[in-house]
Amino acid sequence: MTFVTRFAPSPTGPLHLGHAYSALLAHDMARDAQGTFLLRIEDTDTSRARMAWEEQIYDDLRWLGLIWATPVLRQSEHLARYNSALMQLAADGLVYPCSCRRSDIRAALSAPQEGVTTPPVYPGICRHREMSSRKPGDALRLNMARAITRLDAPLSFEETGPLHKGSEVIDPDTLLHLTGDAVLGRKEIETVSYVLAAVIDDAGQGITHVIRGADLFDTTPLQVVLQRLLDLPTPIYHHHRLIRDDAGKRLAKRDDARAIAKYRADGATPEDIRAMVGLPSLFEKNPRGVRRTAPRGPTAP
Ligand code: GLU
Repeated sequence: MTFVTRFAPSPTGPLHLGHAYSALLAHDMARDAQGTFLLRIEDTDTSRARMAWEEQIYDDLRWLGLIWATPVLRQSEHLARYNSALMQLAADGLVYPCSCRRSDIRAALSAPQEGVTTPPVYPGICRHREMSSRKPGDALRLNMARAITRLDAPLSFEETGPLHKGSEVIDPDTLLHLTGDAVLGRKEIETVSYVLAAVIDDAGQGITHVIRGADLFDTTPLQVVLQRLLDLPTPIYHHHRLIRDDAGKRLAKRDDARAIAKYRADGATPEDIRAMVGLPSLFEKNPRGVRRTAPRGPTAP
């Protein structure tokens, strides 16, 4: 089977050990499957993305020993493509404009973060509105109840990660009560949420395996809905364990202390980073050359 995977960071801060684990794992899995590893820059949030962070991403990943095909897909260069998919959903009557509170919308647009209270599912205040009533500054939301009626049940995806291995059936009730009317279009014209842009690029780049952190597991049902509505294939998903700090908290972009650049500056080697995140060394093998050394370090599972 063809195996194409990607690492898709947002250039909004330094890459830390959690990113290193995700990128190295995807690269290792692609190598083991004689597949392809791609890098994609998810920089649609123009208020937070910075070229300097993007340069640092290339530099850190090269230092870690990763190799990827060029040119790299930069989402900011393809906004029209995402917007046209959004307009297709709107033409199908599946999207409506919404002027509700900014804080809810911000929470729905950013990647979910552990420890942050999930915002309540959107109560549908603007659900009656037609696209023709869209005003500057309105976001666009998916009408989830209507979307479900357009899809053949059961909805499902294949998961190979250690936390949820197997076939995941998506319950329509979960979609209605936990995902709800997700924001797909941002207030800025022609800017879409990362969930939609990722779905379009995963299909466009022929991604067969999405390898990413377990914090994105709950985003997957919405992405599968979007794939089905847009007639796009559903890749196999592999949500991996998260790298945590000493207190057991998931690392975030602001954890500069665990930035790869900081470890580099302190003289760590790429092999040290592999050991720290619990990945086997690329060099040590047992006498039969089959199994590599057991993962070690504080973050091993
Ligand atoms: N850009 C997202 C992030 O940095 C990753 C999205 C994905 O892997 O699907 O969290």
